Amino acid sequence: MATNIQAIRGMHDVLPEQTPLWQYAEKIIRNVLSSYGYSEIRMPIVEKTELFKRSIGEVTDIVEKEMYTFEDRNGDSLTLRPEGTAGCLRACLEHGLLNQQAHRLWYYGPMYRHERPQKGRYRQFVQLGVETYGMAGPEIDAELILLMHRLWKQLGLLDKVRLQLNSLGTIAERLIYREVLVNYFKQHQSRLDEDSLRRLNSNPLRILDSKNPDMKEVVANAPELMSYLGEESLQHFKAITAVLDDFGIGYEINTRLVRGLDYYGKTVFEWVTDELGSQGTVCAGGRYDSLIEQLGGKSNHAVGFAMGMERLLALLETRNDLPVAKPVDAYLIRVGEKAEREGLRFAELVRDQVAGLKLQTAVDGGSFKSQFKKADKSGAEFAIILGDDEVDRGEVGIKYLRKELPQETMSQSQAIGFLQQHLEV
Ligand code: ATP
Ligand code: MG
Repeated sequence: MATNIQAIRGMHDVLPEQTPLWQYAEKIIRNVLSSYGYSEIRMPIVEKTELFKRSIGEVTDIVEKEMYTFEDRNGDSLTLRPEGTAGCLRACLEHGLLNQQAHRLWYYGPMYRHERPQKGRYRQFVQLGVETYGMAGPEIDAELILLMHRLWKQLGLLDKVRLQLNSLGTIAERLIYREVLVNYFKQHQSRLDEDSLRRLNSNPLRILDSKNPDMKEVVANAPELMSYLGEESLQHFKAITAVLDDFGIGYEINTRLVRGLDYYGKTVFEWVTDELGSQGTVCAGGRYDSLIEQLGGKSNHAVGFAMGMERLLALLETRNDLPVAKPVDAYLIRVGEKAEREGLRFAELVRDQVAGLKLQTAVDGGSFKSQFKKADKSGAEFAIILGDDEVDRGEVGIKYLRKELPQETMSQSQAIGFLQQHLEV
């Protein structure tokens, strides 16, 4: 016998029993985004490797060790997208979208990173990305936070997440801070791990992002970037917190929050949770004005965030009052030759007339008993029973599958009214 082929490590199937929860979250996400007037954009999953090298930065976890890069048949170096910000901006520049007005965009889909798979960390994972262009802020920075706050509320997760906020200032401010930071870390060089020693010259701010517990103290005592910000950066930051204060949205200022990607400036934020162990960041983003010029565009503004859907789903699963959508509302049982034929006609009529009803019927026949078992297993609320006698009389039987109520007999047109009435959305 041939051996089974299995899915790639770190890449998962979402099985039919799991999709209702995904769809529940996706529906709420779409509604919240559209209530702020955001439009969807869809980009290819594969881009030129150069795009990610140039945008994410050579000295980042993603570019250094996580990309799925390959040569295609033409010998071009291509990469499965590890994130969406670069591709989204590439698309907008390519189509001249940034020459016109401001844009509020979102995308949704799989991303690829060759990481060590563990709970909340996969090699294919789904991100919701939200990107805005052409707005200097700080109001748009605050809008993105308000939008996420509304989303958490509608998902019933507001009490499970916290907002962390920081400002990375301008490139010039970071350069000054960088020097201060390098001096500090050099004084404590013996306490740095291998990764951090390497980053000391290439990307010292990333040391602050270290997840190594042994580094915790030396990082905690490092000088704070906030003290090196100029007036404009500080005002920008304060204006955001003023909006949050206005709306009673709680936040923590985390001066160690630098984010893993090189392109951020001024605002950075993360929504974190304590419910998911060490993979606690569910949503992360910030302002990245400078990336636009870095990718060949004219000086402009950009701010956005990305949310990891698997982490969001894991968080939803910690809720004990989840609304679970059933795949089937009503199940049609057909017994007898006439009933089999007429039953199909009736099923189509129901689908014409009862919008939204999920109606399934047994195919390949079978006894009443075996069809009844299938009806029960389907999770349906009612079985609609049709035998040859019922067909002759223009009637159907309705049996409640989840309630102790007697079976009812009614005309087919009454049955349509009955289903309409009982349809729970
Ligand atoms: P981490 O610090 O957890 O590695 P990151 O800084 O690499 O995260 P981003 O690039 O900012 O993450 O991506 C935004 C979000 O996408 C993360 O907050 C997380 O929810 C999700 N995410 C990132 N990498 C993965 C992954 N390998 N598997 C599942 N979700 C992921
Ligand atoms: Mg990462």
